[in-house]
Amino acid sequence: MSPGDAAPDSAPPWTPSTLEAGGWRITNLFDASFRLDGGAMWGVVPKNLWSRMTPPAADNTILLAARPFLAERDGVTVVVEGGMGDRWNEKLRGIYHLDRRPGLDLVGTLAALGKTPEDIDHVVCSHCHFDHIGALVVERGGALAPLFPRARVHFPEDELTAARTPDHPRRASYRADDIEPLVEAGLVELHAGDTELLPGLSLSQVGGHSEGMTVVLFGDGMEGPTAAFWGDLIPTTHHIQPPYIMAYDVDVPRSFEMRTRWLARAADEGIVGLSYHDPARPFTRLVREGRRYAAADLEPGELSVAARGEV
Ligand SMILES: [Zn+2]
Repeated sequence: MSPGDAAPDSAPPWTPSTLEAGGWRITNLFDASFRLDGGAMWGVVPKNLWSRMTPPAADNTILLAARPFLAERDGVTVVVEGGMGDRWNEKLRGIYHLDRRPGLDLVGTLAALGKTPEDIDHVVCSHCHFDHIGALVVERGGALAPLFPRARVHFPEDELTAARTPDHPRRASYRADDIEPLVEAGLVELHAGDTELLPGLSLSQVGGHSEGMTVVLFGDGMEGPTAAFWGDLIPTTHHIQPPYIMAYDVDVPRSFEMRTRWLARAADEGIVGLSYHDPARPFTRLVREGRRYAAADLEPGELSVAARGEV
């Protein structure tokens, strides 16, 4: 087999499913698929190991999704994570193999579920790298404007600091145009550490991948989270052994510590993981296999077919 033979070149078609967790109804959206260098996505993991899980194309890139989620409870509508968007020049579209299709992007998948941008009350972001917030700002009439005109946009405070640090080691992962138009519109709210944002929706700052990296937890009270949006703490359903740390991470010991803790919790407590970058599987659960972890699909009946709206 030559490199690239087994590499899927586009994400599977969007199939919206709904999970009930912590009183919330959580549905997978979609914004784009794109590709990043497999070596960068796998850090020190040898290619002969990772290439079996995420087959590379001839240019060594692997397929990734930018998959936000819709969460609804008691009339409150939340978008988790902000997609790639379309503010990319031809050169960068080529480098990232950006594949973003009308009707299958953030607005299109929301519309298919009966939601308009005006319906969104909150946007919660795990961190502020361009592939996680890029769709939240759109170009209208030559100016940059918020996609969701009235949504409160929740960023980790440390991400705003990192994005505004001129000599930050991951400067290339942040774009001012993704952030400042939202700040200027008065929509951004900052959080830090562990906090309950809304009933049954809490945030836990883990750091590691980036200073502010935060997981979004769905669950009520003492019973702990029942679902977790991992962001880039666990970027795909293959990055599920503690040392499988991306080369992008700014604090590897911290990533290892938090990944060790959360992988164990997810397996032992049966937390459903919501995956942003995995091109195939939005929802999985972790199970222990000896000293390792495996990703398992949910039981039949745990997911329902998402209701398509009339738009
Ligand atoms: Zn990412």
